[in-house]
Amino acid sequence: MSVRHTPGKIRHLLDKHGLRPNKSLGQHYLADPNVVDKVVRLGDIDSDDTVVEIGPGTGALTMALVATGADVLAVEIDDRLKPLLAETVGETARILYQDAADLGWVAHLDGRSVKLVANLPYNVGTSLVLDVLRQVPDIATLVVMLQTEVADRLLADAGDVAYGLPSVVVGLTARVGGSFTVPPQLFYPPPAVGSTVIRLDRTPSPPRAEEAMRLAATAFGQRRKMLRASLAGLHPDISELLTSVGLEPTQRPENVPPSGFVDLADALAKT
Ligand code: SAM
Repeated sequence: MSVRHTPGKIRHLLDKHGLRPNKSLGQHYLADPNVVDKVVRLGDIDSDDTVVEIGPGTGALTMALVATGADVLAVEIDDRLKPLLAETVGETARILYQDAADLGWVAHLDGRSVKLVANLPYNVGTSLVLDVLRQVPDIATLVVMLQTEVADRLLADAGDVAYGLPSVVVGLTARVGGSFTVPPQLFYPPPAVGSTVIRLDRTPSPPRAEEAMRLAATAFGQRRKMLRASLAGLHPDISELLTSVGLEPTQRPENVPPSGFVDLADALAKT
């Protein structure tokens, strides 16, 4: 197995394989072994775990995950990295070369409780986390590195500026198990924005959580409108329905906690 990834090591590997970081694929490689270790520690990864890593890149995190003894499946969209990953990760992890966003890799999980670990490309980060929380119950824990602004949106509470649909989805499916920030200079090449690693642990969702998320999607689709306007199409007397669950018809969605959307979904189901 190869030595730990520093900026010099990553540059050397990329040069050797004739590669340049592709910005549109978010290829900012983690170039600090201490942060790699911190990500693995936040995930409490050990030899009993099955881990899915999205976007192994040059394999820095993949090798650290493999070193715990966990069974590692990695999903990488860029098959130009194949010879490089053959050198760094080799046969120690299974690597699928496909777009992780379409969730095709889920078919390769064996039904055991799985941890997802990823330094996610910023352009797919939010939707992948939300899709996994909503559609892949086998993933029990997520440890993901995201653009700080995106992480803030996932972790926001009702009333916060960053509160929106992603916060509602997290609020109804998971609890936050920790977070830490990583400055741009610890990546090669450095991104223009700061990064935050967060851990989410799946929790049992309330009945009608999915309906509640759909309501939140409708309301946040027109976040400047009052609920009585953005949700008008759902019920002939939406104002009365909102009032019956303790919501103000003139409220905007940013002040409605996840449980408020569940109460509304329950009330709608009873009509
Ligand atoms: N894990 C590595 C690290 O920490 O150094 C690389 C992280 S880099 C920010 C993101 C990685 O995700 C790149 O290797 C990129 O090619 C890959 N990637 C981008 N979009 C992807 C997608 N839709 N599906 C799978 N991998 C993707």
